[in-house]
Amino acid sequence: MSSPSPKKLHNSEKSPENKGISQEFSSIEQALRPGRFEDYVGQETIKKNLKILLQAAREREHPPEHLLFYGPPGLGKTTLAHLIAKEMGCQIKNTSGPAIEKVGDLASILTNLSPGDVLFIDEIHRLNKMIEEVLYPAMESGVLDIIIGKGPSARIIQLDLPPFTLIAATTRVALLSAPLRSRFSGGTFRLEFYTNEEIEKIIKRSAKILGIPLSNEAAKEIAKRSRSTPRTANYLLKRARDFAQVERGDLSAKFVAEALALLEIDEFGLTALDRKILEVIIDKYNGGPVGLSTIAAALSEEVSTIEEVNEPYLMQLGLIERTPRGRVATPRAYEHLGFDYPADKSR
Ligand code: ADP
Repeated sequence: MSSPSPKKLHNSEKSPENKGISQEFSSIEQALRPGRFEDYVGQETIKKNLKILLQAAREREHPPEHLLFYGPPGLGKTTLAHLIAKEMGCQIKNTSGPAIEKVGDLASILTNLSPGDVLFIDEIHRLNKMIEEVLYPAMESGVLDIIIGKGPSARIIQLDLPPFTLIAATTRVALLSAPLRSRFSGGTFRLEFYTNEEIEKIIKRSAKILGIPLSNEAAKEIAKRSRSTPRTANYLLKRARDFAQVERGDLSAKFVAEALALLEIDEFGLTALDRKILEVIIDKYNGGPVGLSTIAAALSEEVSTIEEVNEPYLMQLGLIERTPRGRVATPRAYEHLGFDYPADKSR
C-alpha cells in the first residue's frame, strides 16, 4: 500500500468563515490554539465528558472510542481533537471529507496509522457514500475490507487495522447518514456558542500571547462583535492590532470600535452579508417566510455559506426564525436594521 499523498493529509488551518476575512497562517494560529484543557475556555459539559472518557481509556490502555463534534465553524472542534491527541500522548493525522476522493485514499490513510493514533476528519459530511461504507467496518471492528476484482470473481480481503480513534467534525450534522452517526460510540457532542465573558477571556489570553496591550473595555468591545465565536474573536483582535499599529493609536475601546467599523462589523457582530440577508427577507420578501435558496439566489451567495455560517448566528441572536415554510425576520431584526415592524404582522 502506498503512503498517503501530502495533499490528502493537510494542516488543519481553516479558511475563515466570512468573506473578506483573510487566512492568517501558521505559527500565530498554532500559538493561539489552546494546548491544554485548562486553556480551552467554556464548553464545560463537553470537557467533563471528555475527561472521563480519556481517563477511562487510559486506565483500560486502549484508545478512546470514536467521537463526533458538530456546530458552526470556529467554535473549537479541531482544537478539541488536537487536545485529545495531546492528552493521550498520541499522534494526530488530519484530513477532511473532500480531501478523501477515492476509497484508496482512505485505505492508504488507515493502513498508515500507528497504534493509538487519532485520525481527524474535518467536514465529514462531505465524505462520499462509497468511502463511508469502507469506514464502517474500520470504525466498528478495526478492519479494512478490500474488494479485489469485479463481478462474480470478486473477492474481499480483510486487513486488520491498528487500534485508533476517529474524531470527526462537521458543521452539518443532519447530512450524516444514520449508520455513520451511530458508529461514533464514544459520543456525539454539539459545540455551543460562547458567552461574552468566555470570549473576553479568550481575547485576553490571545492578546497576552501576541503581546498586545489591551484594556478591559477594549476586550469587551471586541468580544461584543465576535459572533460568540473564538476564531472570529482572534481575527478581530489581530485586525484591531493592525489598525492601531498603522494609525499609531493605543488599543482603547473607542479605537477598537473604529477599527471594527472599518470592517463593516456592527455592534451585534453582524457582517455586511448578515445584514444583507436580513434586508432581503424584510425588504424584498415582506419579512418572510422565504426559502434559503431564494435568499441565496437574491444575494448571489452559496446556500451552504448562508446555512453554515450566517444563519446559526442570526438565529442565536433571535433575528431570524426557521419555519417549515422558510425563514422569517423577527421584530428584533426590523428594529436592528431601522425598519418599522408592519402592523399586520404584530399579533
Ligand atoms: P472549528 O474546528 O470548530 O472550526 P477551531 O478548533 O479551528 O474551530 O478553532 C478556531 C480557533 O479558535 C482556534 O485556533 C483557537 O485559537 C480558538 N479557539 C477555539 N475554541 C477555543 C476555546 N474553547 N478556548 C480558546 N480558544 C479557542
